[in-house]
Amino acid sequence: MNILERYHAMEYGPAPEARNEADAWLAGRDFSKALFIDGAWKAASGGKTFETSEPSSGKLLAKVSDAGAADIDAAVAAATKALPKWSASSGYQRAKVLYAIGRAMQRHQRLFAVLETIDNGKPIRESRDIDVPLAIRHFIHHAGWAQALDKDFPGHKGVGVVGQIIPWNFPLLMLAWKIAPALAAGCTVVLKPAEFTPLTGILFAEICERAGVPKGVVNIVQGGPEAGGAIVNHPGIQKIAFTGSSEVGKIIRKATAGSGKKLSLELGGKSAFIVFEDADLDSAVEGLVDGIWFNQGQVCCAGSRLLVQEGIAEALIAKVKTRMSRLRVGSPLDKNTDIGPLVDATQLDRVKGLVAEGARQGAVCWQPDAALPSSGYYHLPTLATGVSPANILAQEEVFGPVLATMTFRNTEEAIELANNTRYGLAASVWSENVNLALHVAPQLKAGVVWVNGTNMFDAACGFGGYRESGFGREGGREGMFEYLAAKLPLGPVIKQATISAQPVEQADGAAIDRTAKLFIGGKQVRPDGNYSLAVATAKGKLAGEVGFGNRKDIRDAVSAARACKAWPEATAYNRSQVLYYLAENLSGRAGEFAARLTELTGATPKAAREEVDQSIERLFLYAGLADKFEGRVHQPPARAVTLALHEPVGVVGIVAPDNAPLLGLISLIAPALAMGNTVVAVPSEKYPLLATDLYQVIEYSDVPAGAINIVTGRTAELAGVLAKHDDVDGLWVFADAETCAKAEAWSIGNLKRVWSGNGRSLDWASDEAAGDALLRRAIEVKNVWVPYGD
Ligand code: NAD
Repeated sequence: MNILERYHAMEYGPAPEARNEADAWLAGRDFSKALFIDGAWKAASGGKTFETSEPSSGKLLAKVSDAGAADIDAAVAAATKALPKWSASSGYQRAKVLYAIGRAMQRHQRLFAVLETIDNGKPIRESRDIDVPLAIRHFIHHAGWAQALDKDFPGHKGVGVVGQIIPWNFPLLMLAWKIAPALAAGCTVVLKPAEFTPLTGILFAEICERAGVPKGVVNIVQGGPEAGGAIVNHPGIQKIAFTGSSEVGKIIRKATAGSGKKLSLELGGKSAFIVFEDADLDSAVEGLVDGIWFNQGQVCCAGSRLLVQEGIAEALIAKVKTRMSRLRVGSPLDKNTDIGPLVDATQLDRVKGLVAEGARQGAVCWQPDAALPSSGYYHLPTLATGVSPANILAQEEVFGPVLATMTFRNTEEAIELANNTRYGLAASVWSENVNLALHVAPQLKAGVVWVNGTNMFDAACGFGGYRESGFGREGGREGMFEYLAAKLPLGPVIKQATISAQPVEQADGAAIDRTAKLFIGGKQVRPDGNYSLAVATAKGKLAGEVGFGNRKDIRDAVSAARACKAWPEATAYNRSQVLYYLAENLSGRAGEFAARLTELTGATPKAAREEVDQSIERLFLYAGLADKFEGRVHQPPARAVTLALHEPVGVVGIVAPDNAPLLGLISLIAPALAMGNTVVAVPSEKYPLLATDLYQVIEYSDVPAGAINIVTGRTAELAGVLAKHDDVDGLWVFADAETCAKAEAWSIGNLKRVWSGNGRSLDWASDEAAGDALLRRAIEVKNVWVPYGD
């Protein structure tokens, strides 16, 4: 027998990673006291426990304390008590603690990996080589941010006590993504792991004890939705950071509406894996294995939709099937295993149910001819072909090892199919033509795009979604902002409008129509209802009338804003020139606007002129910043560069306040426009004539039709329509507290990004109410990973 024959004849036995240390740890712990609160181990006050079991066998691992509302109260009290000292500690002190956590985790790396695999079922190769090293990197990376805080985030400080809720698919990694930036920012935390996977969170709390984390700075509570709900609704918490399903994300958005809590949501996905015909097919197949079968497909950014160009579809599918036949399904502790069990029997049932429904809807579901282990929650890797875009397997997040395949003819169709989803977390683009890949990447509605790769992550590069995949970013600079509050200069409390004037029916025929119309799609249009609202002068006389916009008018305005491609696709230099031109034209009519301000608000001529001058200056500012508030290039520890691109949010609804009615409106629409958003603005209800005067200037300032739309009317009503409209991507509301709360609660349809003043306006004249703080709200950061090398 020669060497080659010997090689082919070799038998590979299982190579289980030793679990002795993990078993000893499990045996040595009292899990009935598993709540880590104020630096001590506590039982749940109600004495309740829940069970966690091993997915590969179904065997019970531990009965763990199940926190109730009283335990959450205790944890929040501990975090609140610890906050002043921790937030006042120097960046260097916090950096030392973060570094100590990272180093202590390194010393227990193997225990973390084995425990994670035992509790979650993920193959040891993944927990050992990906989850745990990335979690450690997160702490060490964020030690640096703690020290860089004052220099890199001037005018910002930690938000306070943070409530964090995480899922079961990456228990330790999600914990690291949450805790590291919070500690760096000077926040204290109450974190709840998922009830399927409590173990590595408990081990992490032990690490905190050893690494010298001050008592109460990190509190880790165990439990399910009840404990989660108590965190979300706790009045002592200033920010909620949630990772989990879009369904629960929406519940949390609604529950926190009007509370003033800062919120970040990292939710589900249905990410596209796009293979063009010039791709290296063998690499694409390996990418696909990682993209959809990593962690059994229980990955938020799993490439669960394979979009393949028609000409190579047959060849690629054949290669995929061959590769699938070689995936090893088995014990997750065997380092040769590719596919372990799903996390729980309920998850297995859900995946089976979705596959059966997909087949019923016409998909052809193929699985390799492999045996499943006799126990455990295993599901074979599954390839669905003949999937129509409406098939449940193309639309729903399966969160299992199931790949849905569709074909496309050309680039436009690939982009259209990729974006045909309510989610927007990630995408993967395969082509040997980097020009093509970088042409496609910006057109994908996804927070992360990997070129010729997949599942690349790093602590320095932001991660997070568009659309119903949630909002906020984790990692890097943008992730730090999620735990920081800017000191924006507050303006007056906004009261609910009490305008007594009733709608006045429009005069017909002979009378001269003096009503200022709405401004939609670049044209002055009559309101749908054909009603108008009387506008009073400061002296209580009739100053004029404006259109009484309704739901239909907002819909028309949103369609016009959506249809306007010229603005988002214009170069930043182009946008900058238009904003300068707008400023120039406004300055040509400055006297007229000042007189109008005086007439309506009663401001002195000097104050009115000042507001107009400041408005012009602000337009100049954003014209100048339009081509300067740019993205960055990251150099992660991989053979790749990551382009953190600043993209517009999309269609942004703006509800402007009454104070400084011209400057407030311009201070909001100008940054949105500068970043390439199109705008539907609802101007001040009391002083709308400033906005209707303004659109006359807009009309001759080269602003493309639909880039700015102005709908006058009742603020509360129009804000509600904007909040509920699923084609509005972002909403900025400066209105009374009730309107702001409703806008947040009603935004859950498409999880639009809402920025609300919570019933307060800003002091628009202040320099701090302008610049980066507003521009940051006008963008989404998209991270495009581009690997290099042969
Ligand atoms: P889930 O939403 O059911 O649960 C997530 C967490 O929320 C758990 O800790 C759970 O106990 C808690 N929870 C459940 N109901 C709650 C409620 N009403 N109030 C407060 N807390 C509540 O999600 P899951 O099944 O654990 O995780 C899978 C989901 O997580 C998938 O949709 C996946 O895409 C998503 N995920 C997203 C990311 C990301 O970064 N975008 C990362 C990992 C996972």
